Amino acid sequence: MCSSDLFMEPSSSKSQGMKSLNENRTPLRRAGWAAVVYLIAGFAWIAFSDTLAETWFPDPKTLSVIQTWKGSFFVLITGVILFSVLLRQLTKDRALLNLQHRQRQALRERERQLQILMDNLPGMAYRCLYDPDWTMKFVSQGCTKLTGYEPDELVNNRVTSYAALVSDASNQQLFEQVRVALEKEESFSLEYEVTRKDGSRIWVWERGRGVQEDDGSLHLEGIILDISDRKVLETELEQMATRDPLTGLLNRREMSRVLDEELQRARRYQRPMAVLWVDFDHFKDVNDTYGHAAGDSVLRAISRLLLGSVRSVDSIGRFGGEEFVIVLPEMDLEEAQETAERLRRKVAEEPQPLGNGEAVPLTISVGVAVYPDHGQTASTLCAAADKAMYLAKDRGRNCVAMAHLHDQVHNQ
Ligand code: GH3
Ligand code: MG
Ligand code: MG
Repeated sequence: MCSSDLFMEPSSSKSQGMKSLNENRTPLRRAGWAAVVYLIAGFAWIAFSDTLAETWFPDPKTLSVIQTWKGSFFVLITGVILFSVLLRQLTKDRALLNLQHRQRQALRERERQLQILMDNLPGMAYRCLYDPDWTMKFVSQGCTKLTGYEPDELVNNRVTSYAALVSDASNQQLFEQVRVALEKEESFSLEYEVTRKDGSRIWVWERGRGVQEDDGSLHLEGIILDISDRKVLETELEQMATRDPLTGLLNRREMSRVLDEELQRARRYQRPMAVLWVDFDHFKDVNDTYGHAAGDSVLRAISRLLLGSVRSVDSIGRFGGEEFVIVLPEMDLEEAQETAERLRRKVAEEPQPLGNGEAVPLTISVGVAVYPDHGQTASTLCAAADKAMYLAKDRGRNCVAMAHLHDQVHNQ
């Protein structure tokens, strides 16, 4: 028997059983009718058979024998009727009991299967009220692994509400997303951070739907999974795609994107923006003298130093080798030159660590170009800054040079 048959048969028999139960034939009424029929039939038989016997057998002796037979016949007939009625009723009762037993077994089996499914779900199945607390009415055993709370600590907000595990800002956003989905009568998918009982934070993915109850209340049912590993992987992939692995600074591609974005903003708000082109002086000598690993250590140290010396709105990228580009939004010629000078001094003042406990003095040459003075596009600005950097090299290195204003004409 397939599972659907298993559930079909009892339900169809059950509906028949319910039909007969609902009919207007209560046990008392039926028993009353049987008693009335029996009494009428009994009295009719006694009256009719006595009259008939007295007519046919006037002899008192024969009549007495006939009366005895008549009584025995009555007992026999009523006995047979009682037997068949009882047999029918008991058979029916037994069939009903069997049916109930099978239904109970099927229900228990279904509950067991559901329990196994719930307990082995890779996350937490839930049923909650659609209220600002996300008041849980049921959570599966996976709750403990996911949130650190036991199921009965979350149910009915006994120890904490589920909403309290999510930040207020996220909660508002989630509530809005759920509201929109419910309005469209669609299921919803959410991603957000949850604070576990031990204070650690995890990323979760939730999928659920609204369920309207018979009493008109609205519940949400769904499943919540821990996706922290996926999030870490996503962040790593994002880092790999946008960061330089050696220094952690933006890579050339990401830096170009940032430059374009900042340039658009500068253009839209008609604000200045500066580009610094930085190249280490005689860096090859560091590699040749102390080795490539020491050179890497110097690259990392100067990256940190530059990053710590600019504003949070500024962006630094490694364009290749030991060349760095710094984008300074909202900076005009004068401020950009001051910033470049400050960076140059900072690098020159401090010997850079080689990674073996020793340090080496190093200087940088910086070319400065400013939007809109030296270029209107990312490529013309970069070309002007690069050219200015070579000017700084020509001037003896450890120097800051501004792009020439006439470069703009050549670069267009
Ligand atoms: P200049 O003052 O003219 O710039 O002299 P320089 O020696 O710095 O010359 P240049 O800028 O042309 O040379 C860059 C050197 O940077 C060459 C290469 O050995 C070194 N370099 C480039 N990338 C890396 C890197 O990832 N790690 C290390 N250790 N060195 C690198
Ligand atoms: Mg160099
Ligand atoms: Mg170089």
